[in-house]
Amino acid sequence: MGTKIFKRDQLHDAVELLRAGQLVAFPTETVYGLGALATNETAVKSVYAAKGRPSDNPLIVTVSDEAMMRRFVKEIPARAQKLIDHFWPGPLTLLLLAKPGALPAAVTGGLPTAAFRCPDDSLTHDLIADLGDPIVGPSANTSTKPSPTTAQHVYHDLHGKIAGIVDNGPTEIGLESTIIDLSVEQPIVLRPGKITPEELSEVLGEPVLINAGTKATKGVPKAPGMKYRHYAPSAPVQIVDEPTDFAKINLDEHTGVAASKAILQKIGAKHGFDLGPDLIAADHNLFNALRYFDDQPEIKRIFVQGYHTGENSMAYMNRLGKAAAGHHFKAE
Ligand code: AMP
Ligand code: MG
Repeated sequence: MGTKIFKRDQLHDAVELLRAGQLVAFPTETVYGLGALATNETAVKSVYAAKGRPSDNPLIVTVSDEAMMRRFVKEIPARAQKLIDHFWPGPLTLLLLAKPGALPAAVTGGLPTAAFRCPDDSLTHDLIADLGDPIVGPSANTSTKPSPTTAQHVYHDLHGKIAGIVDNGPTEIGLESTIIDLSVEQPIVLRPGKITPEELSEVLGEPVLINAGTKATKGVPKAPGMKYRHYAPSAPVQIVDEPTDFAKINLDEHTGVAASKAILQKIGAKHGFDLGPDLIAADHNLFNALRYFDDQPEIKRIFVQGYHTGENSMAYMNRLGKAAAGHHFKAE
């Protein structure tokens, strides 16, 4: 299968492919998603196959607006309304009770809930609005690999396996959306993202719990996708928590270092990737850095700068923590 790249003036062709049950990747402000018509079970199943994703891991339902979501939920609780009014379109996914039978089991993983997201990207908004139905939107990468932040990353992983990619340039944020569960008594963040628990709590006017997603409820993991090693290149990754520790790494021709330019220059890293000067830049560049080293077979170990700036760095450290399988560099 040839994978076509679509720009703004070819959106209609992408809509036609989606309507026919084909897979088309789409841009968002977080990472690129892999789209399939959410109401078409066969199309949804082919998403799992293209990504190599375990079938117990449900998919986010991507809508063009609140009205579209309304068709698929039991109700919109007052909390959800507050968050929608404040954050949509934007990098926030809401877990709500689904309307029974409205979505195929392949979307929800057979759970009574569904996850809804309305991305802030004009091309994707128009794509879904024109289609008239939601699309599922897991990240458009091979399962367990770093998420894609450019159309080229998607092409790298999925060309030949999907019909097309809508290209709107590099994504702005670079890390996936915050997921908040509103189907339970107390709101709980299942996946950290750009929007912090503190911001959510402020808008809701009540406390918001935090759960990395690994805790099980009645044997069912709350967000099955938040498993241990994920977002990972083949070579082992270590987190470097203190900038001064970079000087203690034994640099050789097999060592990749992702850090700020200042750090890279100081240690004279041979294989360096500039994460940018601050956390916002590092959020934007993290997956790109991991992919950069993953494409170089001679790189056998990767060291990545950690950030410890409270809730703001929670999403970055969550993704990096999973890529590193929890390994932190310890100087000898
Ligand atoms: P990704 O598709 O890679 O962006 O990951 C989406 C995340 O949302 C995964 O961790 C899923 O397990 C989680 N998710 C999606 N739908 C549901 C649902 N109905 N219930 C619980 N978690 C969900
Ligand atoms: Mg993903």
